[in-house]
Amino acid sequence: MQPESPSIPADISAAPVSAPAPAPAKLTEVSSLTLEGLTRFLTEDLGERAFRAGQLYRWIHQRGATSFDEMTDLSKALREKLKQRAEIVPLVKDAEQRSVDGTIKYRWKTRDGRFIESVYMPSEDRKTLCVSTQVGCAMACTFCMTGTLGLKRNLTPGEIVAQVHAVNREVRKLENLETLRPLSNLVFMGMGEPLHNFENLKTALSILQSEDGPNFSHRHITVSTVGLVPMIERFGQETDVKLAISLNASTDEQRSKTMPVNRKWNIAALLDACRKFPLRQGRRITFEYVLLQDFNDSDEDAYRLIELLKDIPAKVNLIPYNENPGLGFKTTMDERAERFRELLCEGHVAAFIRQNRGRDIAGACGQLANRGGEKASETPQNPELP
Ligand code: SAH
Repeated sequence: MQPESPSIPADISAAPVSAPAPAPAKLTEVSSLTLEGLTRFLTEDLGERAFRAGQLYRWIHQRGATSFDEMTDLSKALREKLKQRAEIVPLVKDAEQRSVDGTIKYRWKTRDGRFIESVYMPSEDRKTLCVSTQVGCAMACTFCMTGTLGLKRNLTPGEIVAQVHAVNREVRKLENLETLRPLSNLVFMGMGEPLHNFENLKTALSILQSEDGPNFSHRHITVSTVGLVPMIERFGQETDVKLAISLNASTDEQRSKTMPVNRKWNIAALLDACRKFPLRQGRRITFEYVLLQDFNDSDEDAYRLIELLKDIPAKVNLIPYNENPGLGFKTTMDERAERFRELLCEGHVAAFIRQNRGRDIAGACGQLANRGGEKASETPQNPELP
């Protein structure tokens, strides 16, 4: 990348004798580049040989290096050059909270002083990370805490993948593991609307799925969307990972009340996009359905949902609502949730109640909002909660 050229004064003779030093060149965020982009940067901008790009890429995305100094098989001269011209975008750990159920919520500070969160959820057969794609969110769903923040900015591809690298590092240390990539699954269900930051999401996915990077399989990555219909189509054409839709209602009236996006693309438009979605063999679309007491959890809701999904290869994840102070919704009782699930199953819709994780640390779905200024805590805040 070239430094921005300083503007030339109209009358050169009027320029002050001791002109201010030119602004320092903007550093290239190399951690946001695919291997192809990195190769271009190294060969065209730095005049290096192409194979150096592979080395640098593997340092960043396979080993999770955060500084050029670590890259011991690069010459000192190249490392110095990289320091002058490039940067690996830093995400600094700001807080860490551990739930009684093993979930760990990490809060990261970005270079411009913003905060984002990622949630690590270990279980017997997998280690999943819930990844954020934006600082805040523009979608303004009324039950969601992140929605109350508004959108601050998009995360760069480097900041999206840095969450994965950082948690791999944490888990390696925590569990004393040798493996470079202890995480097995990724869900894009953290802060933000992934399809509202589509280009950066796409670049991040291509890095995360690359053989010279963390090499995640498309089967182990799920992206969840509020239902940005035109982007669902592009997502289907341009990526091969799994799709989840936050449906959360059985009528347009309900959905428009809680999810403003429904006023632009209603349930019919959304499900139409789902029907056209190019599904791989044996794959289904996951529909998330947050159960809100006396709002969308009646028998009639279940019957309507069966009707809506009858011609879509679907799986429904029922999410018991995680209450947020001030948002006014209540959690559906367990028996009601179970009855709702049974009704769906009787109607031949595969339905599961999603185990709630990290509630005691406000790390569960819809609770990510950087509860301001809280001190990092190593102990559960509210250990009696499930
Ligand atoms: N914006 C994307 C990604 C965030 S995923 C999306 O909406 O899909 C977050 C998931 O948690 C969504 O399915 C959302 O409906 C759900 N959710 C939001 N707030 C919640 C809450 N308080 N309790 C339970 N689930 C919630």
